[in-house]
Amino acid sequence: MTGTTTDHEELATRAGRELEEATPQEILRWAADTFGQRFCVTSSMEDAVVAHLASSVFPGVDVVFLDTGYHFPETIGTRDAVAATMRVNVITLTPTLTVAEQDAEYGPQLHDRDPDQCCALRKVEPLNRGLGGYDAWATGLRRDESPTRANTPVVAWDARRRKVKLAPIARWTQEDVDAYVNANGVLLNPLLWEGYTSIGCSPLSCTRKPGEGEDGRAGRWSGSGKTECGIHL
Ligand code: SF4
Repeated sequence: MTGTTTDHEELATRAGRELEEATPQEILRWAADTFGQRFCVTSSMEDAVVAHLASSVFPGVDVVFLDTGYHFPETIGTRDAVAATMRVNVITLTPTLTVAEQDAEYGPQLHDRDPDQCCALRKVEPLNRGLGGYDAWATGLRRDESPTRANTPVVAWDARRRKVKLAPIARWTQEDVDAYVNANGVLLNPLLWEGYTSIGCSPLSCTRKPGEGEDGRAGRWSGSGKTECGIHL
């Protein structure tokens, strides 16, 4: 589809209303029909649920992965397994600076001293650059993940990037995800079997296993007050 950003903003607002009760497949079908190749899915490779859903309605869909240089080996392995076994086109985005170059410029372990700046350099900027060729992108955000995600719309206007942003499984619960994974044999990051419930970068200050009774994202930037990397703000 071609159109102005005003067209897309109106489209997103209307779709957010009309698709609120739709299934993830229906939401993704709408995006594929509306945007074609200018639509992509982003994945942290915690699991391949949204990539699997998208490939079922749009085989060959672009799946965008941000390689921050700080990932667990299991996450890179999940990315490679997705690329090798699923009908998707995995695209890996990388930051402008390598970890060594960032250490030289900003000092070592920026993630411990200023995680907002580290995420801005290693996640937000590369994603914004990588999404340049798309009009719409889908994420795996869910309302039940944390209080900060409780109002996530299924389709909305991403004003910061001037793109349509989808959260096709926003209404799903963890039980819905588990049922879909089990029914379809969807690839999962093996760290999920080790007690991690939200998997980001490997420094302990960025990802730890949650404690008893904590919400699923409690182990992200634990103790810093930071709850999001900046991509979804
Ligand atoms: S999650 Fe941690 S290591 Fe990864 S980009 Fe953000 S601060 Fe840096």
